[in-house]
Amino acid sequence: MAKTLRVGFDLDGVILYNPIRILRPFAKNFLKPIKAAFFHQEKSLFYLPQSNFEKLLWKIIHWTSFKPNKGLEDLRKLAKNRKIKFYLITGRYDFLANDYFQWLKKIDAKKIFTQCFYNSKNLQPNVFKENMIKKLKLDIYVEDNFDIIEKLNHQSAGWRTKILWLTNIMDKNIPYQFKFFTLKEVYLYLKTLV
Ligand SMILES: [Mg+2]
Repeated sequence: MAKTLRVGFDLDGVILYNPIRILRPFAKNFLKPIKAAFFHQEKSLFYLPQSNFEKLLWKIIHWTSFKPNKGLEDLRKLAKNRKIKFYLITGRYDFLANDYFQWLKKIDAKKIFTQCFYNSKNLQPNVFKENMIKKLKLDIYVEDNFDIIEKLNHQSAGWRTKILWLTNIMDKNIPYQFKFFTLKEVYLYLKTLV
């Protein structure tokens, strides 16, 4: 039997539909320089909320991931295929754990994913994802944030994981080899591989 295909998924914007993900260019070009200027945070880093107020704002932003993405039910069916294994890897920080666990229950994650992981030690999201991708030896990882994709693809020679990009209307003109517009399209692609 051919080897099992190991596929990881991001949560917000991939497994969950998140309408404000289109604000990524805004967050990157506007919010981050402000943050860097006033709080001396390194520009290349992803934002890590510090104060309770910032954490509250961050939680509210994540409440906008308000429903399972279309295509999740197709993935649930595909997960029964023994030639494929799904993992959930989200960069969500420790203080979002409650919301994260609630989502796992709501989507009955146990029936889709072999294992689920969140960023409990508050690492930079791309570092956490990279660590997990290597640890789990993933063949494919599905991500919606192009900043993270760029960082993940800046890897040393041993990097063989294919990063699929679930894009959005604001970013869709950025050229990328493995670009998908819906989770359903990702599902159809994965289906051809098993
Ligand atoms: Mg995401």
